[in-house]
Amino acid sequence: MSRQDETIITKGMQNYIDINNKYLEKRKDYIQDVVKKWKFDTIAVHGLYSVTDAIDDYQGAIIEPIFMTSSQAYRDSDEMAAALAYKIPTWCYSRIANPSTYYYEWTLALLEGYGFDGETSCCSTSSGMSAIMTAVHPFLTVKGKSGHVRNIVATAQCYGGTFQQFSVRLMEEQNIECRWVKNAADISEWASLIDKNTRLLYGELPSNPQLGFFDIKEVADLAHSHNLPLICDSTVATPALLRPICHGADIVVQSATKTLSSGGFGIAGAIIARKNLTANIEDEQLKADFSLHVKYLQNRDFGPNLHPMQAVMTLNDMRTLRSKVDMLSRNTMKVAQYLESHPCIESVQYLGLPSHPLHDLANKYMWLVDAEHDELYGKPTNRYGHLMSFCVKGGVEKTHKFFDGLQRIWRATDIGRIKSVATIPAISTHQQQGVNGRALACIPANMVRLCVGGEHPEDVIADIDQALAKAR
Ligand SMILES: *Cc1c(COP(=O)(O)O)cnc(C)c1O
Repeated sequence: MSRQDETIITKGMQNYIDINNKYLEKRKDYIQDVVKKWKFDTIAVHGLYSVTDAIDDYQGAIIEPIFMTSSQAYRDSDEMAAALAYKIPTWCYSRIANPSTYYYEWTLALLEGYGFDGETSCCSTSSGMSAIMTAVHPFLTVKGKSGHVRNIVATAQCYGGTFQQFSVRLMEEQNIECRWVKNAADISEWASLIDKNTRLLYGELPSNPQLGFFDIKEVADLAHSHNLPLICDSTVATPALLRPICHGADIVVQSATKTLSSGGFGIAGAIIARKNLTANIEDEQLKADFSLHVKYLQNRDFGPNLHPMQAVMTLNDMRTLRSKVDMLSRNTMKVAQYLESHPCIESVQYLGLPSHPLHDLANKYMWLVDAEHDELYGKPTNRYGHLMSFCVKGGVEKTHKFFDGLQRIWRATDIGRIKSVATIPAISTHQQQGVNGRALACIPANMVRLCVGGEHPEDVIADIDQALAKAR
């Protein structure tokens, strides 16, 4: 990292560096020769935590141990000096790194990089929101060529928290302009908003809750033609359905709180970046390994780090990601088809429905990973996730009546759960951005966001059916 050049390496330090370089070589071979050859499910189940790791270092524990400890002790001053100069793999202090979050990070780096013929790395964060801050902040420092005049170009259809972070924290408080793309599927609108002060392009897809979508490859090519990075929020898809880095994106942000874990124990996030990404800033180390760089420098200083307990609980939930997302997607399709034919429903937004204007575009990108290797399918198979939204006929009053009548579906501002959860975005997730912000993001007051869980879809439909009957 940036202080490395000034570090004087003593003989004692060099000993530790040599020992650790051997370890790093072995790890590289293990990733290249073993892990990278596995299918998605095997990576999700094992990640980098191996039988050898467990037996050599962790008394054979079959689950990644939760390292609830603030800091790491060193054998002597040479080891400490090498560690704190980031010359050897180390974790130092749990704000910088931790062995439990290490395994979480590697699993995510490998899953988002599945099928990508390059390297990816990951930096864990305490939440999806801190992942977004972690990803965008390095590009917005005044060190860039445009100095204090900076802008970003981002999809207006995005998570309410993202809208607040960009419009209040960046625009109002720091005078960093956020130029909203209203129709993200229109590449000319993206192009028209970029100028010499633009630092990055940011897109959420599918967007929460309106299911906005865009052509990742087109937008990534556009970004790179201006020497800019493309950052994608891929929370709703998860790597089981879409891996933006494989299509040209530079950085992915994940709220692991959501479908990635689905268990609902707590909040977690991550950024996953390709090595050697594109950016118009002069920081070669940052571009070479973005995740590691922000982990060891920026996030060490800001401190938005993931707790080891949450890391292992989230990791444990991720092991069944592919089959879970498949099941949740199929359940959601059934519910969407039911809603589309219901006389009390004005419209249904689900990318899996052929009536959705972005259905064809979604078909291009949203594939259940490894379906062609699955004996159930045996061929590439589109899946669309478990987030959908719909509008209830008869306005706000009927919508609230329907919502209040739900018995099994939970009323909560949450998505990605194994339990079905519904919310009214206009009074919850998108309440703070006001009437104009909601109009910009296409959030009408009678929109209900539904994330269908793992219950039998007939039981979910029965609950919706009785609630709609009450609202008639
Ligand atoms: C929830 C969510 C976030 C924020 O994640 P937290 O873990 O709640 O901080 C970001 N993006 C999307 C799409 C989300 O759904």
